[in-house]
Amino acid sequence: MQGKIALEEHFALEETLKDSAGFAPADDWVELKGRLLDIQERRLREMDANGIELMLLSLNAPAVQAIPDRGRATELSQRANDYLAEQVARRPQRFQGLAALPMQDPDAAARELDRCVTSLGFRGALVNGFSELAGTDGALYYDRREFWPFWSEVERLDVPFYLHPRNPLAKDAAIYEGHRWLMGPTWAFGQETAVHALRLMGSGLFDAYPRLQIILGHMGEGLPYSIWRVDNHNKWMRAQNVYPAKRKIADYFRENFYITTSGNFRTQALIDAMLEIGADRILFSADWPFENIDHAAAWFDVATIAEGDRFKIGRENARTLFKL
Ligand code: MN
Repeated sequence: MQGKIALEEHFALEETLKDSAGFAPADDWVELKGRLLDIQERRLREMDANGIELMLLSLNAPAVQAIPDRGRATELSQRANDYLAEQVARRPQRFQGLAALPMQDPDAAARELDRCVTSLGFRGALVNGFSELAGTDGALYYDRREFWPFWSEVERLDVPFYLHPRNPLAKDAAIYEGHRWLMGPTWAFGQETAVHALRLMGSGLFDAYPRLQIILGHMGEGLPYSIWRVDNHNKWMRAQNVYPAKRKIADYFRENFYITTSGNFRTQALIDAMLEIGADRILFSADWPFENIDHAAAWFDVATIAEGDRFKIGRENARTLFKL
């Protein structure tokens, strides 16, 4: 399919490169490093060869989210966003930007998102999971009340927020002890991000800000397959899930979430997602440079789905959501 739009596609600054080093064996690091630093050369050739017209670009992970100092997190966000804006300006028909945000400081994050959308023309934000903050004992998840003014600003600006994975903190990763292979994209990314998304849904955030739109990668981080059970376990018992939100979790999933195909190039999983969240809320993505663009495109272009759905998922849904 020609004219595809991909939106979980990353780059790195020299200073954030090290954040990605752990995700490639030493033998592959030279290749990954080259892919991360490049925007206008190799990446563009890969896009041309695989029918991708436009990429929405975002900083690698965890980068800003792992900087416990608020000032430094804010400064790195601004520097990354300014760099991305320069790169987008060179080829705005081929690249658009998603903002990195210093969520450690919700006010600063709201101001930076406003700057990115209003002044730099970015199409939304991509944040790498929970944030670390000096003086707090762990991970800050964005269902917490101090983030609600930030979410109000996201709704006002009317741009999507991509909740991208990161690994859990060591203190929250006891279950993976002795099984390091389960960290990262194998399993821990999906588990971490799915729970964060469920926290947002159960918190009542989407009752307060019903127009918020959150994007999850990797075919929804397992949620399409599990969302029915979240709402329907042990149905004969009198007590059902107790949480502050007013509606069923699946209602929020279908009205406030989009998912992408990033890193999950599997027709069986796509069809399940289409049956749960619907083809209107699924978006093509590759997850370059961690996944290959040709692997994503070779799969998606011939996946056994209706051509109308391929057109929506490959291109049209993104055009509508990001107002491209
Ligand atoms: Mn990614």
